[in-house]
Amino acid sequence: MNDKFDVIFIGAGPAGYVGAIRAAQLGLKTACIDAFAGKDGKQALGGTCLNVGCIPSKALLDSSRQFHNLTSHFDVHGISADNPRIDVPTFVGRKDKIVKQFTGGVATLFKANKITPYFGTGKLLKGNQVEITGNDGSKQTISATNVVLASGSVPIELPFAKFDGKAIVDNAGALDFTEVPKRLGVIGAGVIGLELGSVWKRLGSDVTILEALPDFLGVADPDIAKVAQREFKKQGLDIKLGAKLGKAEVKKDGVHLTYSDKDGEQKLVVDKLLVAVGRRAYTAGLLADDTGVKLDERGRIVVDEHCHTGVDGVWAIGDAVRGPMLAHKGSEEGVAVAEWIAGKAGHVNFDTIPWVIYTEPEIAWAGKTEKELKDAAIPYRVGSFPFAAIGRAVAMNEAVGQVKMLAHAETDRILGVHMVGPGVSELIAECVVAMEFKGSSEDLARIVHAHPTLSEAVHEAALSVDKRAIHKGN
Ligand code: FAD
Ligand code: AMP
Repeated sequence: MNDKFDVIFIGAGPAGYVGAIRAAQLGLKTACIDAFAGKDGKQALGGTCLNVGCIPSKALLDSSRQFHNLTSHFDVHGISADNPRIDVPTFVGRKDKIVKQFTGGVATLFKANKITPYFGTGKLLKGNQVEITGNDGSKQTISATNVVLASGSVPIELPFAKFDGKAIVDNAGALDFTEVPKRLGVIGAGVIGLELGSVWKRLGSDVTILEALPDFLGVADPDIAKVAQREFKKQGLDIKLGAKLGKAEVKKDGVHLTYSDKDGEQKLVVDKLLVAVGRRAYTAGLLADDTGVKLDERGRIVVDEHCHTGVDGVWAIGDAVRGPMLAHKGSEEGVAVAEWIAGKAGHVNFDTIPWVIYTEPEIAWAGKTEKELKDAAIPYRVGSFPFAAIGRAVAMNEAVGQVKMLAHAETDRILGVHMVGPGVSELIAECVVAMEFKGSSEDLARIVHAHPTLSEAVHEAALSVDKRAIHKGN
């Protein structure tokens, strides 16, 4: 049978499944193909994000934070507990339940929106036909006026430290350790390395993170990165910068690492090694040779600003294309493409995509960094405010970090906001709204913020742009 749809999404990650729901809402006959199988071997919709990314990592971050609070932070509140222990199977099992709840939730949403799911690997053929190979090897072909490629990304493997799923693992492996590794090595101090390194550190691992670059968290504002680096050090995360892994050998007593730093060749032995050196677009088996869809030098599907591949009716979104590898970026592209297909005005503003790192303290930013403004010769003013002077943060015993706001020196338009501290993953949303509405620091400065809340740090940083913060010297 050759089923014909208005639109087929290949990939049901946050880009594909969200796009499929929007397409169905717009009255398009929609199918979505995904090959991901859960631990029970059944289809698990939701892609990397729901299965082995955003959601499970946040579940483990939250559980490990509770444990860490119990072992390290509750004493100042006068709370103590004898001999706190962590039961790893329960810890990981709770995460698995959350994953199942959400992947099942996508299946329910598909049903409610009358989206046809297919379980298998989709391959785009010429003429917008899609061949689906089921996990049992069966084949069928479906077709559509529009096909949206949303095949996502996979972890980058180092040729000298290949994943074996036991001693040398990727993100999926590090979410499923059956016990707390005594010594955990992490390659790459990026978002994933820092988050998963924090999880196991909080449970008692000795965590060493090797980062090839000389600067810590180069993607973030340096003032913010400095605070984060200091706090991670206090927590006992051993982050070695300028340390490039050259070899990893699995032996009986652990994984033997050879890395080089400014002092030459170094050795380290760990029980488990998480390789988190970035992700690459995944397109294996996705495209027949004659589709005309092009890949760039990094293997990403080439698209224009409307996520169109240049081939009639073929679009691509999410981690498989240019832009930040973030779930919300992919979802917004999915919505926009569905709207473009339906003849509506889709929209994704790349200038206001928020970034969040869910460590403790959390890190969040949106918009331009000071360096980008300097390089572009854009005149700006800076306002900042420390959480140390925020009553709520002090009451919570989490008075670390700051909010830093960059506004145009002449128009006062907010150009970037950078934060490190408690709850900043939520605080950044207010700034994104202000930036999206082309707001100024004066706008935020004049808005009433509830007291005592963490959001007062945003208010005071906005006042500080004009050197009139109330609770600090200007
Ligand atoms: P994916 O989520 O990778 O989904 C693609 C899907 O397509 C997969 O299910 C795959 O099996 C399927 N597929 C691929 N090829 C085919 C084919 N030919 N046929 C059928 N199916 C196919 N981002 C955030 O914004 N916030 C976070 O907190 C965050 N945390 C993360 C933590 C970790 C540990 C990791 C690894 C990632 C995290 N990310 C986070 C990144 C986020 O997961 C990705 O940006 C997001 O999942 C990309 O969505 P996507 O739909 O493009 O691709
Ligand atoms: P991200 O892209 O945010 O996931 O971060 C991955 C990090 O891994 C980057 O900061 C890279 O510099 C780092 N990295 C890549 N290869 C190596 C290596 N061989 N040794 C140590 N760090 C590496």
